[in-house]
Amino acid sequence: VAVVPSTVIEVIKMFRFEVLAIDRKARRARLKTPHGTVETPNFVPVGTQATVKSLTPRDLREIGVQMILANTYHLHLRPGEEVVEKLGGLHKFAAWNGPLMTDSGGFQVFSLGVAQEDGKKLSKFSNSNSYKEQISDLDEHFYRQLSKGGSLKKAKVDEEGVTFYSHLDGTQHIFTPETSIRIQEKLGADLIVCFDDHESPIWNHRQTEASMQRSHRWSIESLRAQKRKDQLMYGVTHGGVYEDLRKESAKLIDDHFAAVSIGGAYTSKEILYQVIDWSLPHFDGNKPRHLLGIAEIIDLFNGVERGMDLFDCVAATRRARHGSIYISPKNGGTIKNNFIIQVTNEKYKGDEEPLDPGCQCYTCTNFSRGYINHLFKANELLGMRLTTYHNIYFVTELMRDIREAIEAGWFYRLKEIWVRSSP
Ligand SMILES: [Zn+2]
Repeated sequence: VAVVPSTVIEVIKMFRFEVLAIDRKARRARLKTPHGTVETPNFVPVGTQATVKSLTPRDLREIGVQMILANTYHLHLRPGEEVVEKLGGLHKFAAWNGPLMTDSGGFQVFSLGVAQEDGKKLSKFSNSNSYKEQISDLDEHFYRQLSKGGSLKKAKVDEEGVTFYSHLDGTQHIFTPETSIRIQEKLGADLIVCFDDHESPIWNHRQTEASMQRSHRWSIESLRAQKRKDQLMYGVTHGGVYEDLRKESAKLIDDHFAAVSIGGAYTSKEILYQVIDWSLPHFDGNKPRHLLGIAEIIDLFNGVERGMDLFDCVAATRRARHGSIYISPKNGGTIKNNFIIQVTNEKYKGDEEPLDPGCQCYTCTNFSRGYINHLFKANELLGMRLTTYHNIYFVTELMRDIREAIEAGWFYRLKEIWVRSSP
């Protein structure tokens, strides 16, 4: 039985989620927030430090981005939520007056603690070999520190919350459901996330269940801590790779929250898709569904196909800064190469083609691969900016195509075109 605090009822009035079309399980919907509308399915670029690295809000609007995500952990440590609040809240602070989302900090403190178990650097996926670029939303500075041998003190989890040490200066901090929500209320995003405990992908059933129960308790405490009535809170499901736990978690989160998200750990992409399939039947069809921290091209198709609405990931921007750029199937993009070419490779020196021929973005309509290859070789700032612009445009356009395809009833044909591109 649902125990929905009265705040939640009032919050729901400020938001509206409307399903407009359905193509098998894929759905085309619209989420109205106090700062505007998000058409779904959609991709939410990550602006860890309240900036999508190298892009201005004007760029983002020009690209067609509708919502961005900022990280609570990072903004709490620097500049601190009081500073953001004093400067008018996150929307004003970052000059982004569209829909905004913050996470809870739960995943970052996982990265600082549990993920460091046994000297392993774990991500959401236990078998990920591209851990660094693939998943985490922690910044690159943090990874460099870790790769030097991890002089960081590990975070500790107890029933109250997580005690962790800043990756910037080593100072001790404590996150509880209440502090996470308090910080997120000061930051002032439209969509916020309950504070959760993140399981390790290598834990057994018993360990995973204990963590899930803690997560559930913290989720309810997060709701009880909520005071603002203009922020919609996502509940987060956990349960690792275990079907019974995943189902239990999906039911409980759906019972309490007006917006649902899938989080936690997976051993592989196949298990991730399986987890979505286990969870979806337990979600009310009238709530937005966010897949946390996952948005590879193939994940977008497989997630939408299963009924997910929103996706975020640092991969598009992080890759761009390393010269990895997205290309469409007609230019050689396949599942196998992750729809990516490395523009810094020697073979693109002097290449006259744009990054992705046919792409209508500012980068592709004005610059050649050869020029961008040169910018990276010369360590020029503009290189990263142009590749970031293209990658975000690429994913944003893909999501628009996906929305149109669902409306027209041919999402599966669109997916076929992209999936079949694999030799
Ligand atoms: Zn482009």
